[in-house]
Amino acid sequence: MSELEDLYQEIILDHNRRPRNFGKLEDSTHQAEGHNPLCGDEITVYLKLDGDRISEITFDGQGCAISKASASLMTARLKGRTLKEVRSVVSDVSELLTGPDEGIIDLERLGDLAALQGVRKYAVRVKCATLAWHALEAALTGEHETTTE
Ligand code: ZN
Repeated sequence: MSELEDLYQEIILDHNRRPRNFGKLEDSTHQAEGHNPLCGDEITVYLKLDGDRISEITFDGQGCAISKASASLMTARLKGRTLKEVRSVVSDVSELLTGPDEGIIDLERLGDLAALQGVRKYAVRVKCATLAWHALEAALTGEHETTTE
């Protein structure tokens, strides 16, 4: 295992052990639930939109280490961001996890989110990692539930 992969592993484990922004957001303006029946992950994303900025974002639910770490990394990155910035991060992560060409991803711009990179080698795990992101998109578009199959 390379040093970089080691570091990424550490980030995932850390976010799984101590998830950031974990818990229900009582005054959320948007929320959506995501299920990944393949793995049993269930994650609800809550957010509070203030104008075009996400002022608060949290998640709760249960799932494997990858799904929790991905949700935790997502909330840590998106809190306080404008919707335009959010769309850019969402598109970067989607490229990172499911894009055809690994080589074109700007890992520096992704920061800690780059830790999810190792997941793309395992098709089943990709669903775990994308779950929170799909729930986020569903929350923003007003759907209340999303399923990753
Ligand atoms: Zn999972």
